[in-house]
Amino acid sequence: MSPEIKPDFLISPEGLRVDGRRPDEMRPIELKVGVLKQADGSASIRQGKTYIIAGVYGPRELHPRHLTLNDRAYLRVEYRMATFSVPDRKRPAPSRREKEISMVIANALKPALFLEEFPKAVVDVFIQVIQADGGTRCAAINAASLALADAGIPMKSLIPSVAVGKADGQLIVDLGDEEDKYGQGDVPMAIIPNTEELTLLQQDGSFTREELQEAMQMGINACKYLHELQKEALRRAYVKKTPDEEDDEDDEDDDFDDDLETDLGEAELMEDE
Ligand code: UDP
Repeated sequence: MSPEIKPDFLISPEGLRVDGRRPDEMRPIELKVGVLKQADGSASIRQGKTYIIAGVYGPRELHPRHLTLNDRAYLRVEYRMATFSVPDRKRPAPSRREKEISMVIANALKPALFLEEFPKAVVDVFIQVIQADGGTRCAAINAASLALADAGIPMKSLIPSVAVGKADGQLIVDLGDEEDKYGQGDVPMAIIPNTEELTLLQQDGSFTREELQEAMQMGINACKYLHELQKEALRRAYVKKTPDEEDDEDDEDDDFDDDLETDLGEAELMEDE
C-alpha cells in the first residue's frame, strides 16, 4: 500500500476543500432502507466513500440474562469495522475504539426510543463499516436510526448525525478522512431535529467559544438536511408502489426463480450422468 501523503493544504486559495467541496457542503449521500432480508430492520448509508450497513434484530429475548433491565429493553449496539474497510488491514478483534463508538452510538440513539415498551427484552443493532473514509460514527447513527425505524421500534424521531470541524482555520461540515486526520478539530454531533436536543456531542481539537457556536449551528443545519434524506429513504421503502411497479418486481422475481431452477436441474443432471 502506498503511504498516505499529507496534503499541502486542506482549504485551497479559492476556499475549496481537498475534494472540491465548499466549507458547508456535505459529501454525496445515499440512504437505503430494508437492505437485509433476514433482519427485522436494516439500512445502508454511503456518505462519500464511507459505506456502512446496519441490521436490527428485536425486540427479542435477552442473553445473557444478567444484562436484563426490568423496566425497559436493553439497546445493544455493536459497531465494527471490516478488515478491508481501511487500506491498512483492520485487525479483526474488537478494538477499544470500536467498543467506545458502540457505546457512543447507543447513547445517541436511546433518547429517541420508547424502550420502556419492551421490558426485559433486547434490541440488537449491528453496524458494519464496509469502507471507512471519515465520519463513520455519525454515518453509523444515520443508518442505525433508519434500521430501527424499519424494525418498527417505537421512536419519537429519527436521529441524524454529522461531524463539523476546522481545517486551515476554516469551519467545515462532514469531514472526510484527510480532514479528520490533518485538520485542527472535529466535533461529531447528533440531534433530535424538532427540539434540536443534542444526543451526541464530542470534541477533538480546540475551538474558541464563537467558533464552537458557529460550528454547532452548521452541524444543526446539516442534521436537518440529513433528517429530510432519512425521511425520504423511509418513504421510498414504505409508500405503496403502483400496480405497474409491483408487476415489474414480480417479473424480476420470476426471472430469478427460473434461473435458479434451471441451474439446479443442470447440476443434478450432471451428477446422475
Ligand atoms: N481509521 C482507520 N483505521 C482504524 C480506525 C479508523 O484508518 O482502525 C480511519 C477511518 O477512516 C475513520 C477515521 O480514521 O473513519 C476517523 O476515525 P475516528 O475515530 O475519528 O472516527 P470517525 O471519524 O470514523 O467517526
